[in-house]
Parts: sequence; C-alpha cells; structure tokens
Amino acid sequence: MDEKLEPIFAEVVRRNPGESEFHQAVEEVLGSLGPVLAKHPELARHKTIERMCEPERQILFRVPWQDDRGEVHIQRGFRVEFSSVLGPYKGGLRFHPSVGLGVVKFLGFEQVFKNALTRMPIGGGKGGADFDPKGRSDDEIMRFCQSFMTELYRHLGEHTDVPAGDIGVGGREIGYLFGHYKRITNRFESGVLTGKGTDWGGALVRTEATGYGLVFFVVEMLRARGRTLDGATCVVSGAGNVAIHAIEKVQQLGGRVVACSDSQGVVHDPEGIDVALLKQIKAVERRRLTDYAERRPSARHRSGGSIWEIPCEIALPCAAQNELHGRDATALARSGCIAVAEGANMPATPEAVRVLQEAGVAFGPGKAANAGGVATSALEMQQNASRDSWSFEHTEQRLEEIMRGIHETCAAAAEEYGAPGDYVLGANAAGFLRVARAMIAQGLV
Ligand code: GLU
Repeated sequence: MDEKLEPIFAEVVRRNPGESEFHQAVEEVLGSLGPVLAKHPELARHKTIERMCEPERQILFRVPWQDDRGEVHIQRGFRVEFSSVLGPYKGGLRFHPSVGLGVVKFLGFEQVFKNALTRMPIGGGKGGADFDPKGRSDDEIMRFCQSFMTELYRHLGEHTDVPAGDIGVGGREIGYLFGHYKRITNRFESGVLTGKGTDWGGALVRTEATGYGLVFFVVEMLRARGRTLDGATCVVSGAGNVAIHAIEKVQQLGGRVVACSDSQGVVHDPEGIDVALLKQIKAVERRRLTDYAERRPSARHRSGGSIWEIPCEIALPCAAQNELHGRDATALARSGCIAVAEGANMPATPEAVRVLQEAGVAFGPGKAANAGGVATSALEMQQNASRDSWSFEHTEQRLEEIMRGIHETCAAAAEEYGAPGDYVLGANAAGFLRVARAMIAQGLV
C-alpha cells in the first residue's frame, strides 16, 4: 500500500474494531489507489477516500419473530447505506448466521465500486440479518420477512434505497418483503425492491444474471488471452443461485463443469454437472448435494477436502467470502488453471489473489466479475420506471454488453495505471474514480 494511504487504513481499523472482513475489503481497494492518487492529487485533497470508508448511514434494528411452535426468536437486522453519489443506495439483503456489522460493511463497501463499474445510476448499500433460513418453513420465512420489513420500510424508497436478494434471500423472500412493504405504505412501488416475480414487476434474466454475467466476463478474460470457453474444464464452488446459473451458461457456451459444492461437501461429476437435476434438488426441493449424487450415477460426493483440488482450467468461486485460500490457489495454478473469476463477493483471500497473479493466472475480482446481478437490477428499475417489460433476449443482450463494458473499463484502467492485465487494480481504480469525481462535483457530501 502507498505510504500516503497507510494512515487512512490505520484509522479505518481503529474506528471499526473487530470488523475483519470490512478491513480486508478496504485494504484491497486502498492497495490499488497509489498510482491513481499520484496522477490525481486533488482526489486526496478532497478526502474522497476517507469519505468513502465511512458509510453515509448505518441502521441496526431488532427483528423479533415466532417459529411454528410458537417460540420467540430475536434476530439483528442491518442496512448500511454506504454511498448515494451515483444513485439511490442499491445492494442485496443477506440472511445468514454469519451476518454481522463487519460483513454487511464489507459487502456495502464493495457494492459502491461494483455498482460504479456497471455505469448504471445506482449508489451502494447492503443489508441483512443473522437469521438462518435453513430448515425453516415457508410460514416462518414469511413471518421473519414481515418483521424485518416492519422496521426497514421507513428507510426505503425507489429514489432512496432499493434492496434485492443475496445469500438466503431469493424470489420467495423478495415476495414476502414486497407484499409487506406495500401493505404498510399503501403503495405499489415497483422500484423499491428488485428481483421481484416476473408477473409483478420483476425483470426477466434477473435470476440468472449474476451467474450468466460472470461467465460473460470470463469469456472476455479468455478472449484477451486468445482462448475461448469451448471444451474448457471448469470447477464452480457453491450450489446456490449464482453457481447454478454460472454452470448453466458455461455449458451453453461449450465448457464442461465437473464439480460444485454446498456447505455439506463437494460433488465431482466428470461427465459434467446435470444442471436440470441440480436446479430440481437445490432450487425446487431445497435439498442437499448428497441427493444429487444419489440420483446421478456418474457423480461422487465427499464431505471433506477442498473443491479446488479438482484439476480445471477455469475456477469460479461462487459460494461465500474467504473460501479460496493460498494453498487452494497454489493447487489450482499447478493443475493448469488459466483463469479464476469471483462469482461470490470476496471469495478469494488476499494471499490467494497474490499467488494466482504471481503464477500468471488471470484473476477477475467480484466487484467486476459478479456485477451482472446488480446491473440487471438496475435494468429492472429502468423497466419499472417506464412501466415496461423487456424480452429475455433483449435483457440478456444488455447484460452481455454491460459485462463487456466492465471488462473493457477494467482492462483500460489497469493499462493506464501501469499494471496491464491486473483486473484488481483496474476495477478498483475505475470504480473509485467514478465515485470520487461525482462526490467532488456534489460538494462536501
Ligand atoms: N447481492 C447482489 C450483489 O452482491 C445483487 C444486489 C442487487 O441486485 O441489488 O451484487
């Protein structure tokens, strides 16, 4: 990190004790900004970095709810509204037991730069709760969502803050949240949430967008190296919405995905993952990958070990933060991996990123590679604002253009700041510049 940036980072650590994921995300961005500040000293004078490291607003609230047996539970709800200089706060809600302020802040911080890279009019925010939806009935999920929205609604609005899904929040939860928002406010305000059902204001392709967008980004990374996806062997961690649609798109474009994973273990299927079966088990039946292996003769399930031990040319971590470590990166580089792109937010540890880059493996950071989800949310907002609905083909084409644009922006910034091919530096520099310039133009905000 540039020595001028070190005291800024030290202050972030001091003011936000115990928030290790937030520190990690800030350190990663600040690590790229030395050459940007050298070229644009006015950005430092205006304290743009210090401002970006402090969320505009942080909301913490109690979420009481009752399970099917009548027992009362108390969860903690969060919404961190990080930056609104480019548009209303935009970013998902995560329901997972690991959610705490440090996790929501890391996600919100990343979201600001990710959203800037899409070039859509959206600011950055993130929220969620330390609620574990696993094993809960639809009624329990509904009661939790209603209690959560009973507090959150007052902070939202189509021009203020527009949440969407993330881990543990999909179409079902967005439906319950939207229904309750509408009931409390007496407004059918389509643009207040994205990821809605396609019968009532949701955009086609939003469900697929993060996974599909990731693969469109990978296609560009490969093109820059004179390669294509055709015939490439891939490993995708996770088995949620992002992983499923990444697998689907890789296979549509001629690649073969031979493994995926969930919290219980890894499935290795050398003949290629059967996406229809995977969707049935994970998205429809909400069951485990052990069921996949039972129903698919070519697949083997194991509960221990790392998915990254399975040799591949392309690795797509799509599960959760810090799931791909330095030793995994070493194993990937040794097995002939040529590209890694993050479908999840910050799944590769800083050491893993360093190992991959030193080994010459192309590395696509999440804030660029997985921006297709939020970009398509912005397309949903656009359709809602004009009371329009676009075809699947048109929306997918827009998504592909946006991902190509993000790749181009990152590659050009990496080149400009003296590190050709370094998408981490490129994404951080380009995202930061867009936010910083808007911030300065809007005065002391
Ligand atoms: N949670 C997703 C992300 O990490 C999508 C957010 C959105 O659509 O607002 O970007």
